[in-house]
Amino acid sequence: MALSYRLLDRLGMNEGACNHLSVMAPSRSATYAEVMLLAPGYTSDGSSLHWSKVTASSLIGLDSDCNVVEDGSIPGCRAEESAACIHMGTRKARPKGHPSNKVMFHTHSLYATALGCLKKDPVLMPMHQNSLRFMTRAATYDDYDIADEHTSEGEVIGAAMKDNDILFMQNHGVMIAALTVHLPFDNAYYLERACLYQAKALEAVGGDESKIKLFNDKTIATCTKKYTDADFLDKYSIKHFYSWWNLYLEKEPDVFH
Ligand SMILES: [Zn+2]
Repeated sequence: MALSYRLLDRLGMNEGACNHLSVMAPSRSATYAEVMLLAPGYTSDGSSLHWSKVTASSLIGLDSDCNVVEDGSIPGCRAEESAACIHMGTRKARPKGHPSNKVMFHTHSLYATALGCLKKDPVLMPMHQNSLRFMTRAATYDDYDIADEHTSEGEVIGAAMKDNDILFMQNHGVMIAALTVHLPFDNAYYLERACLYQAKALEAVGGDESKIKLFNDKTIATCTKKYTDADFLDKYSIKHFYSWWNLYLEKEPDVFH
């Protein structure tokens, strides 16, 4: 999880100090079966912990009511309220026990967020192989104007997301859910690439969708089956994430401590 914070920062996929990633993990104490781990939203001087500085031990643990019950290695840290409530609320409203409730990435990455602001549902068009990876796994949430960025927003987001892995939060950003950490990292990366290609193609034809070459139905069916296969996704996500892992093991090993 700590490495994911650093990688999304390095790849320019976070915005300011207001995006967040979380994972449900076993608690250190017997009081809680699990806690929700995330990077501190605030350190003792009121600043956020920069994503490029997140370490495994700096993550803080929250209970199901969003109270910090496990401190990280930096004294005096707090969670950002919206982070805690959006992530916990989303988990509460999604199907109970769904495996991909374990890891949630919420970002405002540039192209996924921009495409999510179009009056378009589904957001993605079948125009690139990366798009086919997500088209059957993505939902859209368009109720931003009634949300208040607290627990209720998380619950509305989770209800819109249902058992999908990806949620385009229109006028806001994206939410990505998975069972492991390597998968949402890889999904975040390739979702952004899919959106980048679509945005660039639309820009090149002045927004005229009829000028964009789409896959035929047979290719869509065949490739979607292949690109959404769980074993396929796991294999390629591991390949991608752990190439970065090995680089950081050599260059910035503090992330693992
Ligand atoms: Zn956000």
